Amino acid sequence: MKKKHIPVRTCIGCRETSAKRALIRIVRTPAGEVLVDPTGKKSGRGAYVCPSSECLKTGIVEKRLEQALKCQLGPGDVESLLCQLAQMLRKEQP
Ligand SMILES: [Zn+2]
Repeated sequence: MKKKHIPVRTCIGCRETSAKRALIRIVRTPAGEVLVDPTGKKSGRGAYVCPSSECLKTGIVEKRLEQALKCQLGPGDVESLLCQLAQMLRKEQP
């Protein structure tokens, strides 16, 4: 049997590692916008978080998101990220 390589990433909130595709990617675009990236394909610096607003909040409060993206987040960025994540989570519910 061949071993499959599954890419794993660390959540910026709880610091658990999970399969990359089980996590949500947050990206800082070359234009300096910070967005939730549902496709995982946008270019820019990325950070990963569980599909949980608690983990995102923790990552923001603990400054781990800023560290991962190497930028400072304004209150507007924080609000819009939480809102984008909440929308994504709602969509995934049956
Ligand atoms: Zn987490």
